Amino acid sequence: MNCFIYFPFLIFVAPIISNPILKLTMKIICIGRNYADHAKELGNEIPDEPVIFMKPKSAIIQAHTPFYYPEFTNELHYEAELVLRISKNGRYIQERHASNYYNAITVGIDFTARDIQDECKKKGLPWEKAKAFDNSAAIGKFTDITPGFNIKNLNFSLNKSGEQMQVGSASQMIFGFDKLIASISSYFSLNIGDLVFTGTPAGVGECVVGDELECFLEGESVLKLEVK
Ligand code: MG
Repeated sequence: MNCFIYFPFLIFVAPIISNPILKLTMKIICIGRNYADHAKELGNEIPDEPVIFMKPKSAIIQAHTPFYYPEFTNELHYEAELVLRISKNGRYIQERHASNYYNAITVGIDFTARDIQDECKKKGLPWEKAKAFDNSAAIGKFTDITPGFNIKNLNFSLNKSGEQMQVGSASQMIFGFDKLIASISSYFSLNIGDLVFTGTPAGVGECVVGDELECFLEGESVLKLEVK
């Protein structure tokens, strides 16, 4: 009898919960201006505490799925970033314990409608329209952070149609991973499956329809998508 009641429900939700990213992701926390060279290239000051903004779950686009150029912008930028996956619930996490709260890392793209963001900045308005739209967060294949994994010196890069546009290292971040976790969790609870985009190095730029974007973590391709 019980089977009979639950069966239709299972058919409906199975495709949604079988997707590991969607099942786990509760929210996406992003850090701005975390690399000095990038802050400079956009004419921003170097912050004395992390700049934090959010994207909703609906922003996630996964590897090997089409990415369509949004119709509301004329200046879409890629921003390649290291992305942490949260593995433990917490609030007010101390920096010295922070590494217990994430267990995987990848490279993602924080897509940004730069023209809209510039307009928002000028008017002192929030950035969501420029940063949090559907498919604005691309996420690569995760690598587990195992004991001895040298996370502090991880290298990553982004190629646009085969040409290298961005190169960065975790060692260049103004605020390191553990400081970010401590800072974020003093405002927001972190939950298992949350993602943290940790900021982009210099070299951000425009992409147009037909461009192929590919991200690398320690030289290994982890994310590839075409702008359609
Ligand atoms: Mg960014």
